[in-house]
Amino acid sequence: MNKYREFKEEVNLIAKAMGLQPTEIHIRKMKRKIASCSSKGRLTISTEVLEKPKEKRYEIIIHELLHLRYPNHGKLFKLVLRNYLEKLYEP
Ligand SMILES: [Zn+2]
Repeated sequence: MNKYREFKEEVNLIAKAMGLQPTEIHIRKMKRKIASCSSKGRLTISTEVLEKPKEKRYEIIIHELLHLRYPNHGKLFKLVLRNYLEKLYEP
């Protein structure tokens, strides 16, 4: 399995654990951002993210996946994100 497929698998696993389902996952070089989520549920993640350590990758993936539920960075988004990240860093 190549690293892109492996990474997509990782995104799918996290999405499933969160009860979310992106319509498509794209991995490509991005100039200004490291990830984005379209209103149609399409996730685009920069190839840069693959090189990051696991916890950082998860943080980026969870952040982006949450946009499937909350399109902005409002209070609720931040609260739910913090909740997920706390779980992630629990021993
Ligand atoms: Zn965001």
